Amino acid sequence: KPVYLNGRYLPIEDAHISVLDRGFLFGDGVYEVIPAYRGRLFEFEAHMARLDNSLACIHIGNPHSLEEWRGIFAPLLEDGTDQYIYLQITRGAAPKRDHLFPEHVAPTVFALSAAIPPYPARGTGIKAVCLEDSRWEHCHIKAITLLANVLLRQEASEYGGAEAILIKNGFVTEGSSSNVFAVIDGVLLTPPLSDGILSGITRQVILKIAETGHIPCREQAISIEDLKRADEVWIASSIREIVAVVELDDLPVGDGKPGPVWQSMNRLFQAYKQSS
Ligand code: PLP
Repeated sequence: KPVYLNGRYLPIEDAHISVLDRGFLFGDGVYEVIPAYRGRLFEFEAHMARLDNSLACIHIGNPHSLEEWRGIFAPLLEDGTDQYIYLQITRGAAPKRDHLFPEHVAPTVFALSAAIPPYPARGTGIKAVCLEDSRWEHCHIKAITLLANVLLRQEASEYGGAEAILIKNGFVTEGSSSNVFAVIDGVLLTPPLSDGILSGITRQVILKIAETGHIPCREQAISIEDLKRADEVWIASSIREIVAVVELDDLPVGDGKPGPVWQSMNRLFQAYKQSS
């Protein structure tokens, strides 16, 4: 299956970029991960709006229109299978290494598709670990610069956790690669958008379908104390969808099983996926 690089479709072995690419030298770029169910891109406009925002935040012009992007992705998608598109745009390869933005350098555009891996833990729930959010202050940008996220995810894994839930000044921000939800006193809560979290597309869908499904829901800051007494905790992302956290820092969440609000939300989400 080919990959897309700067206007061409190539076998992945033949897709090469310069060692002077600013993505490689500085992590100077942004990315998107867009699921495609049965060959159809899921929440395409929302992903592309977030891409626009990420690019604007780092002062790279969007090299393509919405319809051009659709056309670029189409040959990467196979009908009938569940895949995702990984799209990465960097500031390109400048003639020399210099922190300053180069002039007259075209961005590097790279996209590939891959099968969405099965996630058997969606049924049973996962263990998560709370860690101090050591990332930078621009987490609303979907930047390729993910070293802190990588280190946090690895640390969580060494404690036996499948995700790190990040805490800043005593409040939940998000997961190392997911948004966080909690059911507290019968209300579904998620931290409000800020520079400290990514506006997850799965998060947006959950907020939308909670309303139609009459699940009481609010964007509200969640303290670590409230998280620890929550009846349910979930993480949400495009690849893993919505997953219950059944063990948090070695203590069970609720009765240690995916809870009833998760069951309802997961049903609504699966139906939404089918219908879109
Ligand atoms: N927050 C972070 C830091 C992420 O990396 C991700 C996804 O990878 C998310 C949230 C969830 O975003 P989405 O639902 O758009 O996949």
